Amino acid sequence: MPGILAQYLPDAALQLAYLIAGILFIQGLRDMTHPRTATRGNQISAAGMFLAVVVTALWFDILSPLVLAAALLIGGGIGAWLAVTVETTEMPQLVGLFNGFGGGASALVAGAELIDTFNGASVATLPVSLTATAAIAGIIGSVTFWGSLVAAGKLHGLVGDSPVSTNVGHAIKVLFLGAAVVAGLILVIQPETLGDSPIASWIPSYWVLVAAASILGIFLVVPIGGADMPVVIALLNSYSGLAAATTGFVLGNTALIIAGTLVGASGLILTVIMCESMNRSLTNVLFGGLGGDDGESEDMEDIYEGSIQETSPEEVVMLLETADRVVVVPGYGMAVAQAQHAVAELVELLDEHGVDVEFGIHPVAGRMPGHMNALLAEADVPYDKMRELEEVNPTFSQTDVAIVCGANDVVNPRANEDDGSPISGMPVLNVAEANTVIVNKRSLSPGFSGIPNPLFARDNTSMLFGDAKESMQDLVNDYKEATN
Ligand code: NDP
Repeated sequence: MPGILAQYLPDAALQLAYLIAGILFIQGLRDMTHPRTATRGNQISAAGMFLAVVVTALWFDILSPLVLAAALLIGGGIGAWLAVTVETTEMPQLVGLFNGFGGGASALVAGAELIDTFNGASVATLPVSLTATAAIAGIIGSVTFWGSLVAAGKLHGLVGDSPVSTNVGHAIKVLFLGAAVVAGLILVIQPETLGDSPIASWIPSYWVLVAAASILGIFLVVPIGGADMPVVIALLNSYSGLAAATTGFVLGNTALIIAGTLVGASGLILTVIMCESMNRSLTNVLFGGLGGDDGESEDMEDIYEGSIQETSPEEVVMLLETADRVVVVPGYGMAVAQAQHAVAELVELLDEHGVDVEFGIHPVAGRMPGHMNALLAEADVPYDKMRELEEVNPTFSQTDVAIVCGANDVVNPRANEDDGSPISGMPVLNVAEANTVIVNKRSLSPGFSGIPNPLFARDNTSMLFGDAKESMQDLVNDYKEATN
C-alpha cells in the first residue's frame, strides 16, 4: 500500500520535493564555502535533508509509522547528544564515524533492496541495473564503514597509528579487492547460478562481497600513519557520498543521488586540498606507509641541548609594545586549551593600539580541516584577520613578532630542510623569518607527527612555556597594564 502522501498527490509531487531538497543541498554547500555564511549553509542543507526524509517516509509505506518515529527519535537523539557533548578536538573522529555510518547504511540498504526485489521470485528476474548498482554500493559502503571505524580509532588513540607498508599487506588488499569484485560480477552476470532455493533470497554473493570489502576497508586504513589521517577522513567522506549516490540509483531516489554526488565531489576536492597541504600524492598516502611517529628514535636532547631560550609574559609584552606587525599562528594546543578567546582578546588589544596584527592559518593546523577558522570564528575574530598559508608566508620577513600558540608540526622547518622526515615537503608557515618568534606550549614535546622541531632552538626563538589559555591571558593582562 502506498504511503499517505502518495494516496493524495501525483507522482510529480515527490520528484518536485526531491528537486527542492537538491536545490537546498546545493545552496547550503555554496554557503558553507565561507565561514561567514557557513552556519546558514548548514541549516539550509539540514532543512533539505529533513524535507527529503519526511517526504520519503510519508510517500512510501516503508515501516510502521511507530517504528519509523522511534528510529528517527533514537537516531536523532544520539546525533544531538553527540553534537552537544563531543569536544571540538574530537570532531575529526566524529566526522569519521558519521562517514562510516553513511557507508554502512548504504551497503545495508542496497542489500535490503536486493532481498526485497527478489522477494520469493526467481533470482534471474533481478535487473542488471539493480544488481550492478547494489554491488558497487555494497563494495564502497563496506570499505567506507570499516575504514572509517579504523580511522576514528586511530584518531582517538584506540588503534596504533604507526605506519606499516609491507608487500604482504598490499597482497592482502589486492586479494580482498579481487574477491569483492568477483562476487560482484557473479551477482551481476549470473544471479541464476544461485538457483531459486530459499538461501538465494539472501543473495549470498552480495554478502560475500560485503565481507570481502569490509576486510579490504580495514586493511586499507590500518597501515596508514596517524599523520595522514586528515586525508584519509576526507577521502572516506568522499566514498560515503559515492556509496550514497549509488544507493540512490538502487532505490531510484533522486534526492539521495544528488546528496551523495555532492558529498562525493566535495570530499574529493577536500582530499586534493589536504594532499596539497601536506605535499603528498594520494597514492603515497594510501600505499606509501609514511607519516607516522618516528620521533622516538631521535634524540631530542641532541637537537635542543643548550639552545633553548625561555621567556616570560612580561618580556613578550615588552616586544609587543614596540612591534609594528605581529602574526599569531594557532595550532592544536590552542584548541586543547580552549585559548581562542584569550588569543582573540590579545589580537583585538594589539589592533586597538595600531599594531598590524593577523592570524597565519595552516590548512591542517589542529585536528580537522578548518579547525582553527572555526575556533577563531567562535571567538568573534574578524574573517579579514585570518590569512591562509600562501598569503601570510611572504609577510613573515616583514613581521616583528610571530606568536606560535600551541602549534608545532605546521611551523616545523624540517618539512623544508630534511628530506627524510615524515613531514618532508609539507608546506609550513615560515615563522622563523620573523624578527622574533615566541613559541607557546607546555614543554618541548613533539606534535602529531612525533618529530622534534628545530625551530625551538633557533637564535630568534624564545619559548613561552605554559598552558595556552593561561599564557595568552597573562599576555592580555600584562599588555593592558603596560599600555594603560
Ligand atoms: P601539533 O599536533 O603538531 O602540535 C600541537 C602542540 O600543542 C603540541 O606540541 C603540544 O605541545 C601543544 N599543546 C598541547 N596542549 C597544549 C596546551 N594546553 N597549551 C599549549 N600547548 C599545548 O599541532 P599543529 O596544529 O601544529 O599540527 C597539526 C598536526 O595534526 C599535523 O601534523 C597534521 O598533519 C595533523 N592532523 C591534522 C588534522 C587536520 O585535519 N587539521 C587531522 C589529523 C591530524 P606540549 O605538549 O609541549 O604542550
